[in-house]
Amino acid sequence: MTEDSRSNKIEDIKITGLDGKPITGWLDGHTILVGLMAYPIRHSMSPTMHNNSFAKLGLNGAYLCFEIGNDKLEGAVNAIRTLDMRGSNVSMPNKKEVIKYLDKLSPASEMCDAVNTIVNDHGTLTGYTTDGIGFVQSLKDEGISIKDKVMTLAGAGGAATPIAVQSALDGVKEIRIFNIQDDKWAQAEKNVKTIQEKTDCKVSLTDLADQDAFKKSIAESDIYCDATGVGMKPLEDMTLVEDPSWFHKDMVVFDTVYAPRTTKLMKVAQKAGVKHVFDGIGMMIEQGAASFKLWTGKDMPTDYIREIMF
Ligand code: NAD
Repeated sequence: MTEDSRSNKIEDIKITGLDGKPITGWLDGHTILVGLMAYPIRHSMSPTMHNNSFAKLGLNGAYLCFEIGNDKLEGAVNAIRTLDMRGSNVSMPNKKEVIKYLDKLSPASEMCDAVNTIVNDHGTLTGYTTDGIGFVQSLKDEGISIKDKVMTLAGAGGAATPIAVQSALDGVKEIRIFNIQDDKWAQAEKNVKTIQEKTDCKVSLTDLADQDAFKKSIAESDIYCDATGVGMKPLEDMTLVEDPSWFHKDMVVFDTVYAPRTTKLMKVAQKAGVKHVFDGIGMMIEQGAASFKLWTGKDMPTDYIREIMF
């Protein structure tokens, strides 16, 4: 049984606002709860993002983290109904496991075979995946449409799968997936099959070891997205593209990594003079905003969140 890593003594856990001053609470008898169920999860930035959004908009909601592994998941999901919570985020190791406890899935969630957001409508639980929405929206925020574009995508894991699926659903013309021959290869093959079956997007999978194909694909692409985590600890000084000449100026280079803020890949792209180089912060805020909208019907104040958190 997963044990909660916190002390359960309230007096042990002090809280101040972002300004360092004690917080005067808005919680009362009407407050509606939203959760995050994952393990480990105490490091998450989502509670800060959602609780500050509730406060900014004057909404009587609270977002709390629950350390939940697969072993406690069924009970935790049933508690969403029992406690009449509005819903929950779900992260590893529960993104696939949670599906069997839900009533319905969004089309993207079904295609990804993963859920990161649960919405509770009077006892009916629907699973969504918002990471791909976050990716597409973060580009829209920068004035970039993915429609009819060619994208080279490195990776087939938890971030790359919803990016590929949502991009295909939203009209990207072609996705060329590159992956190493590791335990995610089968997922990469599955992503190709699903996208071929459910959308008009052209999609292919190539072994990342074929560096000539990788280079050629990037040169022919409007968007290069790295969703591998290479560039993040412990691979902080690494990038899949070392040579700036692989990029062209008019393309988008997108790294899903958000710490460090400027990855090695982004530095290579900047050296190449690429106009649109992005880290994963925009995607992270927008995936949260998409969940927030599902729960509240309201737009998250994303400019405010970016200002206070990043
Ligand atoms: P994951 O483990 O599910 O998938 C990793 C992918 O990278 C797999 O396809 C794997 O085959 C590939 N890979 C692993 N090591 C590699 C290497 N050395 N060379 C080439 N490919 C390699 O991880 P994930 O959950 O998809 O996360 C990937 C990255 O995306 C992380 O940096 C994570 O922080 C980030 N992320 C960002 C957001 C966001 O909102 N910005 C959301 C989710 C994840």
